[in-house]
Amino acid sequence: MKQQSLTPFKMKGKNGLTKKRILSHLIYNGPDSLASLSREMALSVPTVTKLVGELLTDGYLIDCGKQETNGGRRPNIYGIRPDSGYFVGVDIKRDGVHIAMLDFTGEMVMDMKQPSLVDHGSDAGIDALCQQIDSFIEMASVERSKVLSIGICVGSRVRANTGEAFSVFTSIDGSLRDILHEKLGIPVLIDNDSRSMAFGEYMSGVVEKQRHVLFVNINWGLGLGVIIDGQLYYGRSGFAGEFGHMSMFDNEVICRCGKKGCLETEVSGSALYRRFMEQLQNGSSSILAAEIQKGTKIGLQDIVDAAKNGDILSIELIESIGAQLGKHLSGMINLFNPELVILGGALADAGDYLLLPVQSSVKKFALNIASADTQIAMRHSNSSMNATVTHNYENIALLNLNLRFIYCFSVNFN
Ligand SMILES: [Zn+2]
Repeated sequence: MKQQSLTPFKMKGKNGLTKKRILSHLIYNGPDSLASLSREMALSVPTVTKLVGELLTDGYLIDCGKQETNGGRRPNIYGIRPDSGYFVGVDIKRDGVHIAMLDFTGEMVMDMKQPSLVDHGSDAGIDALCQQIDSFIEMASVERSKVLSIGICVGSRVRANTGEAFSVFTSIDGSLRDILHEKLGIPVLIDNDSRSMAFGEYMSGVVEKQRHVLFVNINWGLGLGVIIDGQLYYGRSGFAGEFGHMSMFDNEVICRCGKKGCLETEVSGSALYRRFMEQLQNGSSSILAAEIQKGTKIGLQDIVDAAKNGDILSIELIESIGAQLGKHLSGMINLFNPELVILGGALADAGDYLLLPVQSSVKKFALNIASADTQIAMRHSNSSMNATVTHNYENIALLNLNLRFIYCFSVNFN
């Protein structure tokens, strides 16, 4: 079949909905035959044949050839066409910008991490970000018209339905999404990191059949993605899940939200970093001490890596944060009665050093009846991805899968 760009769907009514179900089935289950699709969709074979034919013509599907069977007639199978469309995800973090591209089947085409060239506070920063995205698409050697959407993932507060972001490019008035769409000429979606990761896990991560899921994002800050009965929960204005800014301590630590005593001031990557530095100054020893004395700047990942290398100070601080996290997570478990709690974010890379104290605290503090059916899983240890990939890579991949789903089921099918 010749190369072509996707014909945008203008599908309303029954056929549109059925095509959406066929694509959804193939995204989740991989290529399938007409007979099997007809059984799955509870539709006649002629109807499925007609709709699959139209999806083939429109460039959404590809004929994958004959299915392998144990004898008998081998049916043709049909799957999602990889090169019919591409998605770009942009993860804006405090220490850099990570851009990745996926094809229509969800395979990574290219990814690139750049040190933070973007000035998050200025209008010039927006132009610099657009230039980074433009040159990335150029390098990927993919026709620009085939890039169907660009997803921007930022930390902290985002009003997803209007596209306003409140932690980056704060000098602009109005919707960051609309400004980027206009500058790039490609539809843009924007959401916060915890929700993007929660939904990514739900679509293709550790979530199996669970419908009630909490995703705890323990990065520099502390975020929460809430999925209730299979749907992301946004609240009235899009600010649901601000777990890290619950007032929990009588300390004098000013949170980045401007208040003091927030959970995040003691339970987060920034808290780990602060406490690690304080302890070193107070004379504690660590395998990182010599490097720091030489003037080397260390990051969160260095402390997590030190813990994995047996550094007692790093291990003890991560354990103490895990115990505190478990205690406050118990409240969330009492509130939501989730089937699954996923620990993700940079600190999740610490594995059992974080997970075990969390589990122990949840056992101690959550109502037994509320937590009895709650499983706590680590994003990192359950990752099907190559174990050498960094957390950021996972984050961006999840975001992209999220995008692919949103594109198929919201943007393109309205
Ligand atoms: Zn706060």
